[in-house]
Amino acid sequence: MKRILISGGSRGIGRGLVEAFAKNGDKVAFIYKSNHEAADAVAKATGAVAICADVSRPEDVKSAVRTAEAALGGNVEVLVNNAGISLISVMQDITDDLWRDVLDTNLSGAFYLSREVLPGMISEKNGRIIHMGSMWGKVGASCEVAYSSAKAGLRGLTLSMAKELAPSGITVNCVEPGVIQTEMNANLGETVLASLIEETPVGRLGTPEDVSAAVLFLASDAASFITGQLLGVDGGFAL
Ligand code: NDP
Repeated sequence: MKRILISGGSRGIGRGLVEAFAKNGDKVAFIYKSNHEAADAVAKATGAVAICADVSRPEDVKSAVRTAEAALGGNVEVLVNNAGISLISVMQDITDDLWRDVLDTNLSGAFYLSREVLPGMISEKNGRIIHMGSMWGKVGASCEVAYSSAKAGLRGLTLSMAKELAPSGITVNCVEPGVIQTEMNANLGETVLASLIEETPVGRLGTPEDVSAAVLFLASDAASFITGQLLGVDGGFAL
């Protein structure tokens, strides 16, 4: 039984992660931003502890991690930096505030949370950190400049953290999903979704379960010699 902290656990991929780790017998706490109803439902269904915090705010992150440690009964052993927001816009319409919001949530949030759990992991010489990237961080998406930049930033964060932290018994990897059926894609019309399926070599959209299977593996004892890897869970889309 491991102590797990997942950001963005109230919906979509994060909810799938909370369910999968709870089913695995782990102790789970998760962070969400504002959707109390969804978070309560996940907590009730899984027994996980829900913590309301904004990962783009370092002071929120600090107190969320202390709350998680108290609820889990010890240092966080596995951190999944999953919270994220997307932004579809032509580049010239991206305001300073929008740019900052996307970077602060997707990239800085992962940095703040990682920094906060590290002292505990280093003192126990044991830890797993898994960032939630995106195939758009690998290949770039038109009209998603801020999102693609933030997700590409997670690649650098993964590689440098992996090198720095391996001697402290901590592995750091990044999972890069393709198109996954969640609310993030709810506003894409039928035609767009159909063309995305057509572009996916395995011929279907991904599910939160596809992503949680990869994350659970990277968090498991079987993956203790794997670090600094960028694992596509995209049905071959970004090949
Ligand atoms: P959803 O929009 O379905 O859920 C997002 C989750 O993140 C919610 O739990 C939300 O909380 C939380 N969240 C958002 N902003 C913050 C914040 N500032 N502080 C704390 N929590 C926050 O997203 P998905 O499940 O689709 O995506 C999850 C991750 O996977 C993201 O990082 C995304 O970029 C990545 N991804 C998704 C893909 C897809 O096709 N769906 C493809 C590739 C990557 P609340 O409910 O309170 O709003």
